Amino acid sequence: MRTAIATVCLSGGLDEKLDAIAAAGFRSVEIFENDLLSSNGTAADVAKHAKDLGLEIAVFQPFRDFEGMPDAQRSRTFDRAERKFDVMQQLDCDLLMVCSNVAPDSLAGIDRAADDFRELGDRAAKRGVRVGFEALAWGRHVNDYRDAWEVVRRANHPAVGLVLDSFHIYARKTELKSMRSIPGDRIALVQLADAPLLNMDVLQWSRHFRCFPGQGDLPLTEFMEALLATGYDGDLSLEIFNDQFRAGSPRAVAVDAQRSLVYLMDQVYAKTQTMVAGFSPLPPRSKCLGVEFIEFAVDDTSGAELESFIASLGFKVTGRHRSKAVTRWSQGGINLVINKEKEGFAHSHFVTHGASVCALCLRVANATATLDRAEKLCDTPFRGKIGEGELEIPAVRGLGGSLLYFTDPASVLKNIWDVDFSPIAATGPDAALTVVDHISQSMHYEDTLSWLLFYSSLFEVQRTPQVDITDPGGIVRSQVIETADGALRIALNASQSQRTQSSRFLNEYFGSGVQHIAFGSNDIFATAAALKANGVETLPIPENYYDDLEARTGLDPVLLDRLKAHNVLYDKDDSGEYFQLYTRSFKDLFFFEIVERRGYKGFGAINAPVRLNAQSRLAPGGPEL
Ligand code: MG
Ligand code: MG
Repeated sequence: MRTAIATVCLSGGLDEKLDAIAAAGFRSVEIFENDLLSSNGTAADVAKHAKDLGLEIAVFQPFRDFEGMPDAQRSRTFDRAERKFDVMQQLDCDLLMVCSNVAPDSLAGIDRAADDFRELGDRAAKRGVRVGFEALAWGRHVNDYRDAWEVVRRANHPAVGLVLDSFHIYARKTELKSMRSIPGDRIALVQLADAPLLNMDVLQWSRHFRCFPGQGDLPLTEFMEALLATGYDGDLSLEIFNDQFRAGSPRAVAVDAQRSLVYLMDQVYAKTQTMVAGFSPLPPRSKCLGVEFIEFAVDDTSGAELESFIASLGFKVTGRHRSKAVTRWSQGGINLVINKEKEGFAHSHFVTHGASVCALCLRVANATATLDRAEKLCDTPFRGKIGEGELEIPAVRGLGGSLLYFTDPASVLKNIWDVDFSPIAATGPDAALTVVDHISQSMHYEDTLSWLLFYSSLFEVQRTPQVDITDPGGIVRSQVIETADGALRIALNASQSQRTQSSRFLNEYFGSGVQHIAFGSNDIFATAAALKANGVETLPIPENYYDDLEARTGLDPVLLDRLKAHNVLYDKDDSGEYFQLYTRSFKDLFFFEIVERRGYKGFGAINAPVRLNAQSRLAPGGPEL
């Protein structure tokens, strides 16, 4: 099977869309009539542009309100079809997609529709083209793929085939078993779309919330299994109407599209051990064992300030890079890398964003296989300059131009701290911090689906349900991807309001990036005491919070007083208790959180509005309410 995409998925003009589609590796495209109508060139110009890019225009669509029209209108619908055939001949496209009639005056009857399609098939054949019939979930009389197939079957015409669209099938919760017995050579086209499960009007859901496979909740591997049983070997085409995609860059969205199909075929393979023809197997999803290090790009001045800040959090210098102005700071199992280089990747990151997290390094089961999988998923590999004898650490581009490095315990990469650094023995007390608990990344709202797919296609992670958090400036939408054991937890935050802290971060920081890092402590009160002794100012939490907490939980008064004394927030769920405290922000750019989990699985969402309010009171310009 070949990957394809409909022009409606992307933003921009038609030429720009075609360029993006070809650049992402597609060889087949569906042209939406509206894109053609709003384009400057003629259909023949579009055909030439596509051909120059190596793209086949496989489908022209949609042709609406065709079958079952009463006699008075019937001949006019055929005239309309002939005009579409004219355009298709100029486009050098041989398949017209007909979606089922929604007109109130259209007439029911499978035989009537089959007669219409037989005649349309005759006319199409004379012009050397074909037609495909799709059941829209909201079609007037035909809204079930089984009925559309019955129409096609009875039309019994070589130029008339069936179009299957996963969205319309799942929208009506139609069973997939009947699909298995449809002969593959009678299927003209297969369209794929995923969607989040939302309880809303199907038409609105379809027009605004469809997404690429792997970004939503529909069981598309089951759809693919049923499709494989038919023997179909034509195009697998993405047809996605989504507001976020229309606001995104066409190039980036087209790459996501290709990634989503590669990932879907990988999931089909994992489930059935059958590789869909035209695709090749990937190394399995990468198992993340933990965060190896977090790297900050700084200059000398901000670097000195950041080093004194993390020193006050109990971190110690444990290594100096052998060839670069780079220092390793550690505590428990946490490594922070401070990069003060005056050239290279970290420096350009600093120039763009100021003091910032420029890279994350994840410890995975197999770093080489992870990079291999990433490349096959259309992620962008990165190679930096390395000194003689130093390790080449596999890396890909991550959020906002940052890097994602991989080490593993099975290769030489496990020696990174001894090979690339001269170790320094740390002395003195720490602050009971043991591990990176979670990393919170802020991004533009339209990019969230993209990063969700990036992480979940590459790593063995699951998504937690999306939560909406009330910030004084609006709603922040937060979604977490995490491994089952919590070795990796990344929160993806975005907001459509310009006034939330998540959005202000994007403006201040000039793009997406890490807004906060949560360190796990094995004793939050020991950490709080160490921070206090080191003169660290924590985020002040108002008295009201503790009054409410007491009323809600009936917490032991002694514990409540301790929480209050150290500005510690508290939550509990069925699996345990959670303690959180926050540092003030570093130069209004990012901040640290300290958490202690006693079996607790969540992220203290209930406390987030209190924290956001407290931070906003301290933000430059004061509270924004
Ligand atoms: Mg469709
Ligand atoms: Mg947090």
